[in-house]
Amino acid sequence: MSRRKAFSLLSGGLDSLLATRLIMEQGIEVTALHFITPFFGYSKKGEEGRYEESWRRLYGIQARIIDVSEEYFQVLRYPRYGYGKNFNPCIDCKIFLFTKARGLMEEEKADFLITGEVLGQRPMSQRRDTLRIVERDSGTEGVLLRPLCAKNFKPTRPEVEGLVNREKLLALTGRSRKPQMKLAEEMGFRHYPSPAGGCLLTDPVLANRFRKYFTKSPTISTNDILLLQVGRHFQMPGNGLLVVGRRDEENQKLINLKQGGDIFLKVHSIPGPLGLIRGKEEEGRLCLAASIVTRYSKAKSQDEVQVSYGQDIENLWGRLLVKPAEDDQINGLRY
Ligand code: SF4
Repeated sequence: MSRRKAFSLLSGGLDSLLATRLIMEQGIEVTALHFITPFFGYSKKGEEGRYEESWRRLYGIQARIIDVSEEYFQVLRYPRYGYGKNFNPCIDCKIFLFTKARGLMEEEKADFLITGEVLGQRPMSQRRDTLRIVERDSGTEGVLLRPLCAKNFKPTRPEVEGLVNREKLLALTGRSRKPQMKLAEEMGFRHYPSPAGGCLLTDPVLANRFRKYFTKSPTISTNDILLLQVGRHFQMPGNGLLVVGRRDEENQKLINLKQGGDIFLKVHSIPGPLGLIRGKEEEGRLCLAASIVTRYSKAKSQDEVQVSYGQDIENLWGRLLVKPAEDDQINGLRY
């Protein structure tokens, strides 16, 4: 038989690892695609080689990490099939990722595409009707094979054409994880990721922040989304945002995420968090932001506190004298 080649969509969870290996075990060359955005998989950014190597070592899988952040923002802003419980546009997300994978598959002349989906495992995106919608809208009808539950469906083109032996595919359904764990053991997987999602769009607190930010900001950058994941957030007058670090590690993240126009605030000579303001200049916002920052410092019970500010963390040259904010003053500003 001539060389057979497939792409798989590797979410990072156990199911997609198993699906990829099931097909590899039929002697088919598989390249696993792992898409990342600031909402999922982004801790791998900048360390792609290390993660690709660990998939190779732990599971024998050849993977490619691909950042699709910028295009993903459009999907998130206008999802044709709406959102799930939080800000997760699962059906549109899959359509987008499958469409990207199909494009690569065609470019590199692969025969078909694999996912680790299991019929009925997730309420919205793994129902029979939504699986069909995703196939149809991503143009993957006929070439999309779900090895873990393939026998619940009519044979796909790679099965009909004899590229894949249908007898060796599975008929899993539902939410139980036991068959997958058994299969992982049989395949010799000693370590594998927990099934918990890992997509920040399903986190109620963060999803709420993302939604608000998307609603009011006509343009979104990866840096903005990363900033929304750090610290306490407050809406400033106009269109500004104040972020206050909760720990040293978060203060450091704020320093790393700083962009032109952002302003740092810090209580002068007293331990306390770092604040960062981003967004439109508005009168009075510096004083308000400074009083919020002092509320979270060791000076919160003082009558007046000196706060330093500036754009360069090494040179906070500005000074303000403010009264620490009261909780009832800031509760309505929480983001
Ligand atoms: S949970 Fe997140 S990554 Fe998964 S399909 Fe939904 S939006 Fe996409």
